[in-house]
Amino acid sequence: MADSTELRARDTIHAGGEWRAAVSGATREILDPADARPFALVAEGDEKDADLAVAAARRAFDEGPWPRTPVAQRAALLRRVAGLLVRDREELGLLESRDAGKTVEEGRVDIDCVADAFRYFADLVAAEAPGRVVDAGSPDVHSVVVHEPVGVCALITPWNYPLLQASWKIAPALAAGNTFVVKPSEITPLTTVALIGLLTEAGLPAGVANLVTGPGHTVGARMAEHPDVDLVSFTGGLVSGTKVARAAAPTVKKVALELGGKNPNVVFADACATEEGFDTAVDQALNAAFIHSGQVCSAGARLIVEESVRDRFVAELARRAEKIRLGRGTEDGVECGPLVSAQQREKVEAYVESALKEGAVLRCGGKRPEPAPERPASGYFYEPTVLDRCHREMRVVREEVFGPVLTVETFRTEDEAVALANDTEYGLAGGVWTADPGRARRVAGRLRHGTVWINDFHPYLPQAEWGGFGKSGTGRELGPAGLAEYRETKHVYQNLAPAPVRWFRG
Ligand code: NAD
Repeated sequence: MADSTELRARDTIHAGGEWRAAVSGATREILDPADARPFALVAEGDEKDADLAVAAARRAFDEGPWPRTPVAQRAALLRRVAGLLVRDREELGLLESRDAGKTVEEGRVDIDCVADAFRYFADLVAAEAPGRVVDAGSPDVHSVVVHEPVGVCALITPWNYPLLQASWKIAPALAAGNTFVVKPSEITPLTTVALIGLLTEAGLPAGVANLVTGPGHTVGARMAEHPDVDLVSFTGGLVSGTKVARAAAPTVKKVALELGGKNPNVVFADACATEEGFDTAVDQALNAAFIHSGQVCSAGARLIVEESVRDRFVAELARRAEKIRLGRGTEDGVECGPLVSAQQREKVEAYVESALKEGAVLRCGGKRPEPAPERPASGYFYEPTVLDRCHREMRVVREEVFGPVLTVETFRTEDEAVALANDTEYGLAGGVWTADPGRARRVAGRLRHGTVWINDFHPYLPQAEWGGFGKSGTGRELGPAGLAEYRETKHVYQNLAPAPVRWFRG
């Protein structure tokens, strides 16, 4: 592994088809969260780099071929990108693992999902009718509703699923004929840089795809306020998301926000009536909360379990959580990686400390693990933590922790379960576990969340919309609505027999 002194800075800013260093010449070290050592050096852009990239995207939209390229050709390019992702799956999966701290297997799954997103949006646009003819009530009128690209899109993404979140924006933006500037998280930019290379290799014209590596408060903020940007699509935390919305408001650009979640996982006792049912519900609750060390917007971080099964359920959950093998994501047998940064681990530690002060009971975890060969002391590891006897007044129950911390609350009636599950300012996703199909449908219907899983947790489909109620955001990604975000709708009314109106008689 290289010391930072050995690292050679890469030109990671892409504008108008050229790779460049930052205008200021600044660079940033990218750290491996498993040992806190730098393993790459990227350009640290600022507002000037954002301006150059937006100008390139603007030119490519106003003068370039992409917005006017036939849909079939756009779809074919997206499919070529999917093929290149499959070709580079191992390399990209490894890079994602190293950058974001996830296991290599998770990295590979991410890349598969990225390829799926490109294929899905290719198929969706290719299958569409070019417009919708409207009955104008007269044989002398031809009226049609068509879709057009929005223009220049600013795409801002987080660090937990770096390439996946970028692809949910880039694939539909391109399918619809837009040009874009993407700004990946400053701490995990590497796979997005690689994707821009694949887009070029697939034949995307210069200036359509632009990238600026750099911080949110400079690059991201400039993109959000820029008068030449027509749409900003942001995925990240609530605090940054509201800043983006504010910055975008004066220019009245379209804004899509995919923000955080505080997601309930509701377990009814009837789901645990058989040994098999109990084992499945526990296993999935573990996965819901601890995959990628809980750094998942839809993490099932709030276990809401029927009181009669709480003790047995929580005991088994804690027993299994203690066995999760923490370590560097590239090591064989490791099941869970570190947190992404020192700052993120400190935030998690503060939440656990405040929960314990407020009366939560620690069932497992609550500390940094002992170092081991696969888990250097310098890495940002934190043990999977189960906090029992929690209630909604606790910060740890209300706020998004974004770490391996599961809180446990209990209920006695179905109404109480629904009330608890909806008692959040967020509304991204939630799960319900029950053996009663009627109850499953009733509860799913009452949950105020953008995705509801019944007897499952976490799966998503590219063809189904993803997004949140409440402060989990506005707009949707994936599915037909995820394409619609990147389009303007135009009604073209053609009078085939023009004649004077004579409203004014003079
Ligand atoms: P973050 O809000 O800190 O950063 C997200 C992105 O916004 C980064 O690229 C960052 O540089 C940029 N940014 C920061 N301040 C900005 C500003 N003022 N103007 C413009 N851009 C700015 O979030 P994060 O810590 O990278 O990611 C974790 C968050 O993302 C969690 O809250 C998680 O729930 C959320 N998330 C949501 C979804 C979803 O689908 N709803 C998916 C993944 C992550």
